[in-house]
Amino acid sequence: MPPLTKRRFSHGRTHRRRAHDAITLPNLVECPHCKTPRMAHQVCPSCGYYKGVEVVKQEDKDKKKPAA
Ligand SMILES: [Zn+2]
Repeated sequence: MPPLTKRRFSHGRTHRRRAHDAITLPNLVECPHCKTPRMAHQVCPSCGYYKGVEVVKQEDKDKKKPAA
């Protein structure tokens, strides 16, 4: 759409343009360590493993940080 439109666009024309705006689901693969779906080429958010090594230490989710 140009910066200053000369005419009002019909709904059909707007919808035709929006027809290509849908987002796609992320590519999920199964984690070889904990078998939960995770994003490809990224550290597993569930177990913190990537390529067989623990990259991110996992903390207990129930534990909350002690109030200072
Ligand atoms: Zn995992």
